Amino acid sequence: MTGDIQNNRQDDQKLKAGFATLIGRPNVGKSTLMNALIGQKIAITSKKPQTTRNRIRTVYTCEEGQIVFVDTPGIHKAKNKLGDYMVNAAESSISEVDVILWLVEPTDYIGAGERHIIEELKKIKTPVILVINKIDTVKKELLLTYIDAYRKELDFAEIVPVSALKKDGTGELIACIFKYLPYGEPFYDEDMVTDQPMRQIVAELIREKALRCLEEEIPHGIAVTIEQMKFKKKIVDIEATIICERESHKGIIIGKQGAMLKKIGSLARKDVEDLVENQVNLKLWVKVKKDWRDSDFLMKNFGYDPGAVE
Ligand code: GDP
Ligand code: MG
Repeated sequence: MTGDIQNNRQDDQKLKAGFATLIGRPNVGKSTLMNALIGQKIAITSKKPQTTRNRIRTVYTCEEGQIVFVDTPGIHKAKNKLGDYMVNAAESSISEVDVILWLVEPTDYIGAGERHIIEELKKIKTPVILVINKIDTVKKELLLTYIDAYRKELDFAEIVPVSALKKDGTGELIACIFKYLPYGEPFYDEDMVTDQPMRQIVAELIREKALRCLEEEIPHGIAVTIEQMKFKKKIVDIEATIICERESHKGIIIGKQGAMLKKIGSLARKDVEDLVENQVNLKLWVKVKKDWRDSDFLMKNFGYDPGAVE
C-alpha cells in the first residue's frame, strides 16, 4: 500500500494497465454496461469465445491508462440444478485478472445463484467490485439496504451503484477499476479497429457461413481475409475476401447472378452484427489464390492449426 502511494507521488504520469472481468447472471446488464463503459466505437463483446484461441478482449483506454476486459470461460451460461448459471472460480481464469466486477440487480434479496457466486469468490484473492446495476428502477433510499445486504456476505473491494442504461455512475466505476490495476504500459493500441482477434473471429464467422452454404462443393478450400473493419458511429464497415483455390470454385461461391455470395453475406452479417452489437455493412469479394494453404501468412492469420488441415 505504502509503495503504491509513493509511486503515485513520484510519478503522476505513470500509466496503469491491467485486466478486469465482468460477471453476472443473464439480463443483469453486462452488455449494456460494457457499451456504456467503452462507448459504441469499440464495443466488442463476443458470444463465441470458443471460436478462437485468443479470448475476446474489450479495451478501454484513457489518459490514466488501459483496462482490458477479458471474457471468462469459467463463467458458464449453462444452468445448474437451481436454474442459475454457474461460476467456477477454481477452473476459470477469473482469478488471473486484476479485478473482478460482479454485476447484480438492485435488490436486497440474495438468492441461491448469488450465494453460489459468493462462495466461489471467497476462494480467490482477486479484489471484487460489486456493481449494483439498474438503479434507475429503484428509489435512492433503498440503495443503502441493498449495499448493506451484500456487504455482509463478502468483503468487497468497492460497491458501486450504476445505471448502465442511463450511463449513471459509469465514470465512478472506471475510476474504481483503475485503483486496482498495476502500473504499466498499455497492452493494446488505442485504436481497437486493428485488433487481430476481432478480425479473426469475423473471418471465421464468414468462413463458417460460406462452408455451410457451399456444403461439400468446396471442401476445406477456402479462407477469409478481412481487408477492412471500420467502426463508425452507427455502423461497422467490413470488407472481406473469400479466397479459394480454383477459378471454378470462384464461380460456385459467387453463384448465379451473385446469389450464393449474397446468401453467405447476409447470413454472416447477422452473426457479425450480433458479435459487434452494432449494424454492419458487409462487402464480400472472391479471389482465387492457388495453394493458399501453403501460405504462412494465411495459415497464421486465421489461426488454422496446420496439423488439422488436410
Ligand atoms: P446481459 O445479459 O447481462 O448482457 O444484459 P443486457 O445488457 O443484455 O441487458 C438486459 C436488459 O436489461 C436489457 O433490456 C437492458 O436494456 C436492460 N438494462 C441493462 N442495464 C439497465 C439499467 O441500468 N437500467 C434499466 N432500467 N435497464 C437496464
Ligand atoms: Mg449480454
